[in-house]
This record gives sequence, C-alpha cells and structure tokens, in this order.
Amino acid sequence: MNAPAKHTTRKLRQLIDGEWVEAAEGKTFADRNPFTGEIFAEVPASNHIDAQRAVEAAERAFPAWAAIGARSRQGLFLNAANILERRTEDIVLSLAAETGSAQPFSRFQVQWAVGLLRQAAGYPYLPGGEIVQSDTPGVFAMAVRRPLGVVAGISPWNGALALGFRTVVAPLVCGNTMVLKPSEEAPLSAGLLMGEIFTEAGFPPGVLNVVTHAPGDVQPIADVLFESRQVRAYNFTGSSATGAKLAARAGAHLKRIALELGGHNPMIVLADANLQHCVDTAIFGAFFHQGQICMNTRRILVARPLFDEFLEGFVARTKDIRVGDPADPENKIGPLINDRAVTDVRNGIDDAVAKGARIVTGGTCNGRCFRPTVLVDVPDTASISCEEIFGPVVVVAPFDTESEAVRKANATAYGLTASIMSGDVWKGIKLGEQVQAGMVNINGPTMGGEPQIPFGGVKDSGWARFGRWAIDTFSDLNLVTVSPGTRRYPL
Ligand code: NAD
Repeated sequence: MNAPAKHTTRKLRQLIDGEWVEAAEGKTFADRNPFTGEIFAEVPASNHIDAQRAVEAAERAFPAWAAIGARSRQGLFLNAANILERRTEDIVLSLAAETGSAQPFSRFQVQWAVGLLRQAAGYPYLPGGEIVQSDTPGVFAMAVRRPLGVVAGISPWNGALALGFRTVVAPLVCGNTMVLKPSEEAPLSAGLLMGEIFTEAGFPPGVLNVVTHAPGDVQPIADVLFESRQVRAYNFTGSSATGAKLAARAGAHLKRIALELGGHNPMIVLADANLQHCVDTAIFGAFFHQGQICMNTRRILVARPLFDEFLEGFVARTKDIRVGDPADPENKIGPLINDRAVTDVRNGIDDAVAKGARIVTGGTCNGRCFRPTVLVDVPDTASISCEEIFGPVVVVAPFDTESEAVRKANATAYGLTASIMSGDVWKGIKLGEQVQAGMVNINGPTMGGEPQIPFGGVKDSGWARFGRWAIDTFSDLNLVTVSPGTRRYPL
C-alpha cells in the first residue's frame, strides 16, 4: 500500500494482480506539486511489459469476478465507500498537493465519489435482463446482461479523484475486470488511490490493476491496451483531440469506447432573470477549480438590457476571489496544472486581445496562478470564442434576440452542458430544447453533476452516459432461448 507521508516525497508503486510493484524496468518519474514545484511523489514509469502483465492479470481474474454473487459485490462497493469517506482529510490534502485542487473542489470530489460507490452498490440487484416473447410456440427467450471481459480505463488529471472513480466503478460493478491508466499528471489521485481503496475494501487480486507512466511515454502502454484482443472495451475521459484518436483505434478493432470529452459551455441570461442569482451562478460556473473542469462556463450571453449591470456585478465578484496555495483553505482558486497550461491560457487571451477583445479584469498570472479573467468584445475569429481554454477565463457578450442567443450558444463543435437563466422556467425549458448540449440547466450552473444523473455530452463532447445508463455500455445484452423437445422445423 502507498502510505501517506506528510512533507516528504511519497514513493508510489503500481498495482498489478493484487501486488504493489515497481515498473518492470525499475524506472520512476517525478510527479510534481503544481503550486510549489516540489516533487510530490516518485511514481513507476511503466512500459508495454507492465501493461501486458496488467491485462493478463485482469483476464485471469475475470471469470471469478463475473460470477461473484450480488451480495458480495455490493458489500465490496460499500466497503470502498466507507474507506474513502474515512480518508477524506488525507485525500483533500493530497489532491491539493498533486493536482492544485482547492478545498471546495476537493471536498466535492470526495463526497461525489462516495455517493457514486454507494449508488453503484445497488446495481448488482437491478434486473439482469428481461423475458422476451417468442413467436415460436413453447420457446422461452431471455435477454440476459453479461459483462464484457477486460475493460481499459483512461482517466484525466483535472477532476482526478471523481473521474478516476467514475472510470472504474461502472465497468467493475457490471462484472468486468480492469486495467486503469491514470493521467501522468495525477497518477495517485486519478489511479493509484482507486487501487488502494479497492484493495483495502477486499476486491480480489487482478480485478482492478493500475499502471502508471511518465509524461511522453503513453504510447507503449496504449499500444498494448488497444491492440490486445483481451481488452474488450474502453472508458475514456479526456480531451476531444485524444478521444478522437482513441475512438479511431478502438474502431479499427471493432471495440466499443465510452467517450467523455471537452466542452465550451454557454450560459444564457434572459432579460427576465434574477440578476444577483445570475452573477452568483456565473462566478461558480466560470471559475470553480480555476476553470479546469469540462463543465465550466466559457461564455456568458446576456440580454442587452441587463448586460451593463450584469457585467458590473460579475466583475466586482470576480475581483474578490482569493487565488493562491490550494493547501490554504482561504484560497478558492489554486494553480493551473503545469506550465504548458499557463502558456495555453496566456496564448488564448493574447490571441483574443490581438483580434480586438478587451480584458475587463484579470489577465495576469503569478507563478501558475492565473487571476480570474473576464473578456468582452471577443470576435468570433478568436479561438477562445469556441475552443476550450482550460483556465479561469470567461467571455461575456450581449445578445438582442433569443434566436441570436441560441445561435451563439451553438456556435462551437462541443455540446456538453449549458445553462439558461430566466424568471420563466418554461421559457427556459423551451429555449433549452434548441441548445445543442447533453445537459441543460435552467437557473443553475453549467457546472455540477451528481453521480446518479445521465452525465454526458453531444457533438464533440462525446457520447457516453453515466449513472445507471453506463450499465448499457459496460455489459452485453445476450439472448438465451430454451426450446421444447416437441419443436417442429421446416426442414
Ligand atoms: P488528455 O486528453 O490530454 O488526457 C486524458 C488521458 O488520456 C490521460 O490519461 C492521458 O495520459 C491519456 N492519453 C493522452 N494521449 C493518449 C494516447 N495517445 N493514447 C492513450 N492515452 C492517451 O486530457 P487531460 O488534459 O488529462 O484532461 C482535460 C480534458 O478532459 C479537457 O478537454 C476536459 O474538458 C476533458 N474532460 C472531460 C470530462 C467529461 O466528463 N466530459 C471530464 C473531465 C475532463
């Protein structure tokens, strides 16, 4: 087990076949604290040998895990929930140190993942299929849910804990075994922690394997996971660019892949909306976790009569947000994950400004901590107007008609989530029908998501659905028929 050690560099191992092991070739890499730059952990730098071992371990563990009774499976998920909940305080600290997550987002993630595990614990008792009527007299036909086999999970760094658990929980509860490859930016929070908690909960060896790799070295592991016939499906959360590549790889072998990808989420503020509620909602939507969540609000479209008043209130609140070391509970916003992220955000702002945009507040950076930034007069030609920028930057723009608001909301390849603010809920619902998003929130933020909802996007935001709908993705529906000995045939 990976023992938590305060103020020292942790030495982590990876989980293969129930054993905590070094990388096959003994290499490690440094996992750094994004705020201090110190080494948070030394982590196994694996290659194809480790990945192959993990796939084989998962394959060996599959028959027994698929056959385990509902009560036993439920008990293991409930154990995992209790262990995770008990470890809340140490995980909140490690999420800050490894991923720069400030306390409100870290606590949200732990609570969310505990809920996910407890809800999944009920899935083994859901109906495992249904009886199908047959046209042939005496034939009894059943549609039966069966696990797929070995599933590979690939998780991102940003909502590391919540998404690490989301990557493994649905496939495992359906009776599959797994190889989890966490992001190289968060190997503990997005991967090894899942291994620690499931091991302590009593999951059998090989059911969940976790393989870590150094930055730039994903390819040998991906090659094993995607070329192996033993791996039957993938659960991927990450950027749309990576998702498109991996969907092509999975498709080449006719394997299924669940995709949860990026977003460029609009908030539409109609003229009859409650202004103060809109400002509060927009602050949370735009800047939670320093804008590094797929669901963050990227554009706020405001009915022209409200525009000036909204902007004034929103900018005033934005200036008040405390930014800094995420280990300090007073700070609501921490650092971006790495220097490349800082450069990407900087370039996005500079490009918009060069094309005529105006920075109303923010735009500066201290270390990796970007001040929450509000842009206006952003032309459609600026990449920030439709491409995901993973930082605390939001565009505010006026509109004159509702159809213009819908057109602007849909002017992006993404379609993850949207929010519509109105004093008239039905008007919000009707307008929401025209917005291309997997999730539409009336008078609530684009940001949110509870474990039981059908979470997922449309267009370039992917096609997976979580909550109980993930059972359809991570199981097969097989037909079983029983014929009477008296059955007559035409030949
Ligand atoms: P990313 O696409 O860079 O990486 C995601 C994962 O894919 C990592 O584990 C990475 O190592 C792996 N990966 C990258 N290239 C690979 C390859 N060639 N083969 C196999 N694996 C590969 O994304 P990220 O920066 O970690 O995460 C941020 C992105 O994820 C944003 O676009 C965000 O919107 C999106 N996201 C979406 C959701 C959602 O539920 N829709 C949730 C969180 C994050």
